[in-house]
Amino acid sequence: MKKTGLYIHIPFCIRKCNYCDFVSFSDKFDYVDNYFSHLFIELQYVIDQNKEISFDTVYIGGGTPSSVDSRYIKQIMSIIKNRLTHDCEVTIEVNPATVDINKLSDYLIAGVNRLSIGIQSFEQDLLKSLGRIHSSQEAINTVLLARKAGFKNINIDLIYGIPSINGHNHQTLCDWQHTLEIACGLGITHISAYSLIIEEGTNVYNWGCEYIDDVLDREMFYKCKQMLEKYGFVQYEISNFAVPGYESAHNIRYWKCKEYVGVGLNSASYLNGVRYKNTDDFHRYIGGDYQDKNETEILDEMDMMNEFMMLGFRMIDGPCPEEFKQRFHKDFMDVFGEKLLDLSKRGLIVKTNGRYNLTPKGLDYANEIFREFV
Ligand code: SF4
Repeated sequence: MKKTGLYIHIPFCIRKCNYCDFVSFSDKFDYVDNYFSHLFIELQYVIDQNKEISFDTVYIGGGTPSSVDSRYIKQIMSIIKNRLTHDCEVTIEVNPATVDINKLSDYLIAGVNRLSIGIQSFEQDLLKSLGRIHSSQEAINTVLLARKAGFKNINIDLIYGIPSINGHNHQTLCDWQHTLEIACGLGITHISAYSLIIEEGTNVYNWGCEYIDDVLDREMFYKCKQMLEKYGFVQYEISNFAVPGYESAHNIRYWKCKEYVGVGLNSASYLNGVRYKNTDDFHRYIGGDYQDKNETEILDEMDMMNEFMMLGFRMIDGPCPEEFKQRFHKDFMDVFGEKLLDLSKRGLIVKTNGRYNLTPKGLDYANEIFREFV
């Protein structure tokens, strides 16, 4: 059986955060039942159409999957249970203030074994400026509750580089250090730390804000790396740190350009060299028209090789030459030798044990590396 990943999108959130540009809605809870009826139909269809596939990673994301009753998640798990590998990593995203011990236990019993908690900050004022629905204390309680329920593999998402929004102060290095200190004391296994990018169409973008400068943003990144490493986390991707052995297998699948199937609103799939996307129109989806025919892309070999390199350089170890050879029957030095030597000369990557890794400068200017492979 071919192993692949499965992404399931749950597009409901209690309130839209001020920086959020994900496909998620706070005004569509009346349609939850309707949405899931269609999600189950699509999921069953995917399972029936791909009999040769088993899933070794599942990611239930959103939106806020924990904002709906756990019976929907149990139903998802019961549809896919016969197609999961014995060691399948099953992650669900949760938002503090939308879970209790019963819901968390339901997830565990249903087969979810990894929790990703969107926290973003432990500073009360910053949580407010971001429009989060939970307090700092609720975020801490959620992590403790998750551990009490029996979750051993817990990620939290954090954000740095938060600008001054709507009269609130911008994030300081001291705020960030305080958030990291709390995070490191929670006994979790994974931390995703993202530099905030203000996307068009979000509240923050529309209101306007005073951005923090790049120097402070980089200082925050270095503070993060230094503190997390002190507490035993290892950076394995530009924004991701894990206790060794707890790296996100599902996300590594994306960065290694491996196949995945997406189900639900706006989800993307990549199978047999074809990338396709579902509609992002909620009412079209619950009308039974799932796929967006205009969003199908057949990748040629050069596209796939470029993508392999670009996404591979998101990981600190860089793209794997053996995997490249196995996939394309070519040596990546024969295809990209000149570019790699140029990036090395510019100090952005360095060759170690036959592999090109990002240097500290490469981490600061990663976009320059990615641009070479677009
Ligand atoms: S909880 Fe997540 S998906 Fe929902 S609005 Fe906030 S950032 Fe967006």
